[in-house]
Amino acid sequence: MRKIPNELAPCGVFCGACPSFLKTCLGCASENKEQSRKSKWGCRIRVCCYNIKKNNFCIECEEYPCKIYNKKLLDPHQGDIRFKYRHEIPEVFMQLKNMDIVYILEYQKKRWACPNCDGTIKFYHYQCDKCGNKSTI
Ligand SMILES: [Zn+2]
Repeated sequence: MRKIPNELAPCGVFCGACPSFLKTCLGCASENKEQSRKSKWGCRIRVCCYNIKKNNFCIECEEYPCKIYNKKLLDPHQGDIRFKYRHEIPEVFMQLKNMDIVYILEYQKKRWACPNCDGTIKFYHYQCDKCGNKSTI
């Protein structure tokens, strides 16, 4: 049984910074079916990582970054500033590779923490969900 914090998606995205987190989605790592957003169940990256490869993160896979990964996560929206949280994942992933999961979570929480309050900078708009502070993450 996986014991990955719900904030940590298999692809390396930090679900904790997703505008849908705890609103319509419990996070990619959650297996709780009682969430309104359904898209994650059909995510090819998630299915491959968890169900086929039985990994926690794609970076554990010998095929990383594979075709599925590139096609779904890295290739789309190139140059679109809203999606920079995706395009920086290869770099972030390399830093996380040898960390314990608890440190990965801390690292990501700190990375996405608002510098002005205890809110979280949410991706797409890179703005704090509490005080509205615009971040330069
Ligand atoms: Zn804030």
